[in-house]
Amino acid sequence: METCGDVTKKRTVSFYTLGCRLNKAETGTFTKQFIDNGFSVVDFEESADVVLINTCVVTDKAESVCRNVIRRARKISPDGYIVVVGCYAEIEGQNISKDVDLIIKASEKHKIFYYLDKCEEKHSLLQVFGPIKEKVATVSENALNTTFFHAASSIENGNTRAFLKIQDGCNFFCSYCIIPYARGRSRGADIETVCTQARELISSGFKEIVLTGINIGDYRSVDGDKISRLPHLLRAVLSLNGLERLRLSSIEPNTITDELLDVVCDAPNFMNHFHIPLQSGDDEILRLMGRKYTLVDYTNVIKKIIDRIPNVTIGTDVIVGHPGETEEHFVQTKNFLQDIAVSHFHIFPYSLRKGTKSAQMPNQIEKRIKKMRARELIELGHLKLKARLIEEVSAQRIFQVLFEQQVSSGVWEGYTSNYLRVRVRPKQASISLKNEIRDVVIISVGEDLYLEGEIIADK
Ligand code: SF4
Repeated sequence: METCGDVTKKRTVSFYTLGCRLNKAETGTFTKQFIDNGFSVVDFEESADVVLINTCVVTDKAESVCRNVIRRARKISPDGYIVVVGCYAEIEGQNISKDVDLIIKASEKHKIFYYLDKCEEKHSLLQVFGPIKEKVATVSENALNTTFFHAASSIENGNTRAFLKIQDGCNFFCSYCIIPYARGRSRGADIETVCTQARELISSGFKEIVLTGINIGDYRSVDGDKISRLPHLLRAVLSLNGLERLRLSSIEPNTITDELLDVVCDAPNFMNHFHIPLQSGDDEILRLMGRKYTLVDYTNVIKKIIDRIPNVTIGTDVIVGHPGETEEHFVQTKNFLQDIAVSHFHIFPYSLRKGTKSAQMPNQIEKRIKKMRARELIELGHLKLKARLIEEVSAQRIFQVLFEQQVSSGVWEGYTSNYLRVRVRPKQASISLKNEIRDVVIISVGEDLYLEGEIIADK
């Protein structure tokens, strides 16, 4: 009989990460743990002894991708252990239990090797389910709400930007959203641990760190009577030696305070880009969605940021076709987006999530209409981003660009501080710019919504 001790002695593991930046950070930590336990990492397309799939449940499309990836993993690694973690595993674990070897619920992520070791023989199924009742998501006061799995990118995952998890869970319970059921209540990592992780990322070679979580604006860490919020954490991280660039991942509009802007607006290593979900440009739909702001509040936040942070860019998420969204509501959203100074759009057709309030609402919108509305807003987003890129060219702006990858022979791509994609063709064709920061003057707009520039030292 093969014991799980044998399993952990086998030396290969592969990873597949779906969904958000938080999942990417968590896969980074799993990667480090597997390497520390004697595994070597192989590509997902190669057969591995353990395949870890970090899943997402945010839309029905994400769910169907998860199911496909699980099937592919079994084909690629027929003798491997298929281990599934993440939100899909938490919410839909029962439905995939026959296809995988191990399901780790959110509160047990830190014990992955304990569970691998507990397997007594290969393919003995160990199911570690979350709080699921008859497939209807429920949330209760349990470990899901209190456990914090510290996570950060690993250099082995090949990223240039490091994702550092500072917060998990959400208390906002927007009507359409399944995440609070999959991730539990809002909780934050303590500042000291975040700073230690950030120092490790800097010394392992990362130049840019992205602080990430489910609802980072709601970050809080409690130490006795002392409660620290996001501005305190930011002040500590921004002052770390050697940190060249710091970004925030998506942040809710009603959590952006004056104090937060005070901290970031003068910090030279804070990157001037915010991603602030809007979700709808109509107050009635925002109310139905259970969002905690009005369009006036949203507009005021955007104005404040633009006033205080030079050349900032702002991105947003919008859901089209939420139950009850009429043609008038949609047109109102489109007009609002047209007028507001937001240039990066992420558009999602509403996806019904079982167990949420929106799933029970009348006036669900036809798929065909949702698709049409999404297409219209995606087109508007392209026009707005293009207009922004043209502005940068007219201003002949000079940016510090952090390069990430070579996209074709002699052409390197990276991002400006304000998160615009830039391509350059360095004079020295054989040079590697990966993870290098260079001053670049912007010259033109490329066809696929990027900027073309020239490295100043090459001029
Ligand atoms: S803020 Fe709303 S949309 Fe975002 S995770 Fe929380 S409940 Fe979901």
